[in-house]
Amino acid sequence: MTNHPAAAFARDAGRLAVGGVPVDRLADRVGGTPFFAYDRGLLTGRVQLLRTVLPSEVQLSYAVKANPMPAVVQHLAGLVDSFDVASALEMRTALDTPMPADRVSFAGPGKTDAELRQAIAAGVTIEMESENEADRVTALGRLLGIRPRVAVRINPDFSVKGSGMRLGGGPQQFGVDSERVPALLKELANADVELLGFHVFAGSQNLRADSICEAQRRIVELSIRLAEESPLPVRYLNLGGGFGIPYTDRDQPLDLDTIGTNLADLVRGPIRQALPDARVVIELGRYLVGECGVYVTRVVDRKISRGRTYLVVDGGLHHQLAASGNFGQAIRRNYPIAVAERIDAEPTETVTVVGCLCTPLDLLGDAVTLPRADVGDLIVLFQAGAYGLTASPTAFLSHPAPAEVLV
Ligand SMILES: *Cc1c(COP(=O)(O)O)cnc(C)c1O
Repeated sequence: MTNHPAAAFARDAGRLAVGGVPVDRLADRVGGTPFFAYDRGLLTGRVQLLRTVLPSEVQLSYAVKANPMPAVVQHLAGLVDSFDVASALEMRTALDTPMPADRVSFAGPGKTDAELRQAIAAGVTIEMESENEADRVTALGRLLGIRPRVAVRINPDFSVKGSGMRLGGGPQQFGVDSERVPALLKELANADVELLGFHVFAGSQNLRADSICEAQRRIVELSIRLAEESPLPVRYLNLGGGFGIPYTDRDQPLDLDTIGTNLADLVRGPIRQALPDARVVIELGRYLVGECGVYVTRVVDRKISRGRTYLVVDGGLHHQLAASGNFGQAIRRNYPIAVAERIDAEPTETVTVVGCLCTPLDLLGDAVTLPRADVGDLIVLFQAGAYGLTASPTAFLSHPAPAEVLV
């Protein structure tokens, strides 16, 4: 199981353990299956890895939407430098932690006046996605008698290859088109707002270090160019993130060292020279939490249909949509899967693992080789720490919501 995500977790008498507790015991602790379990030690280790490899001048922000479980956000509050939120509820979760409000940024299209009021009152940084939003923020700040802290999210004039989700280069709902940013900056210089700087997010789930490096270089170039037209110094520069994690056996882990070197060159070269006042931020969701979590299900039925062995588990795509291939995969490939109580046992059979939903889409493992599993055994899906529960259609088929536990 080299390179298998299971290798990162501890064992207890041949059983997979999360946070040192075997998952069968965790199932009893949370009151049954299915459930999500996140490993606190792995979360801490992940931040430490990034701190070691990335230059110390670069600050780390956690994109809460990847996993908004309050305990996870609370734990990360003590480890990262800032939070990025994308809704009012995420903002409340972030502000319930010791993270100061001026280290919380609020991005995302379609922020309502009600959300903007909350953000202004809280004193978080609003990453403005359009000219209209900028006007509304200014007006609401005046109404509330509070000077809003703002940054401009830029829709760059380039896109990067190799990203699972590519943003920028053309028209999009995110950010202000880069060619329109100078005019907006002039307007904002005369408005009663605290203009801090820029934010560019160029894509997600990118496993190619070279393309992430290229994006970061181009974001810095673009920001320097726009800063020349800005009446104010840039004090905040959010370079986005998009660091991917391997989900299938075709994926290679991201080469973090290359990104670290590139970032060091940028912060100690052009950024220091042209944007000396900028607090430089990388914002990561998936890369911080994705590999730290598992989704645990129990076999409810084992059946053979015309020669094919099915394991039917008590979970499914309503909790972990991504593993079914219906969230961002063009071609369905299996996510890493294992039998929890025999985590290092040799595989002995090929089975199809399906969820309990009444739809053929609910496929969790297509012709996977596993040690034998019977009714009552626990099947674990890995890489479930990001975009799991909250990115799944929990209401579909009306089953109960699964537990989540941070161990
Ligand atoms: C979703 C999002 C992120 C996090 O993306 P990951 O791929 O999970 O790292 C970061 N920044 C913004 C603005 C986002 O919308």
